[in-house]
Amino acid sequence: MAAYDPDNIFAKILKGEIPCHKLYEDADTLAFLDIIPRTEGHTLVITKESAPDLFGISPQGLGKLMAVVQTLAPKIKTAVGADGVLIQQFNGAAAGQTVFHLHVHILPIKDGVPLRPQETGMAEPDALAMTAEKIRASL
Ligand code: AMP
Repeated sequence: MAAYDPDNIFAKILKGEIPCHKLYEDADTLAFLDIIPRTEGHTLVITKESAPDLFGISPQGLGKLMAVVQTLAPKIKTAVGADGVLIQQFNGAAAGQTVFHLHVHILPIKDGVPLRPQETGMAEPDALAMTAEKIRASL
């Protein structure tokens, strides 16, 4: 199992040391917009348990995380007018993981609209703020 770095970027978001476009929070999870959205409404749901990946979390914690994904995904889909939802979760650098704090991607997908390439870079903060407001209003 990968080691957990308590100073990873999502741990800093959880501690309030860096900002995020927060959509939802409860005792066990936090959901916020991805700063490099591959689609409109691209959301990350993270656990508050300090786990680097899927293999480091308790079954109970994983259950709570996925229950939040299940609740939020259809609401985010509706809020941005998408037709489907892609759920992604990466484990290990070889699999594409870049932040080693367990998280699940919620990607609303519109018919015929491909994912933006990762190289697109960070979204404008105002655009993210507008999307976050639209989603929060539908939660
Ligand atoms: P992964 O490849 O599953 O580890 O994805 C990590 C995701 O975190 C990427 O999609 C990044 O765009 C996203 N990300 C990195 N830093 C931040 C941040 N400060 N706020 C929001 N999303 C972030």
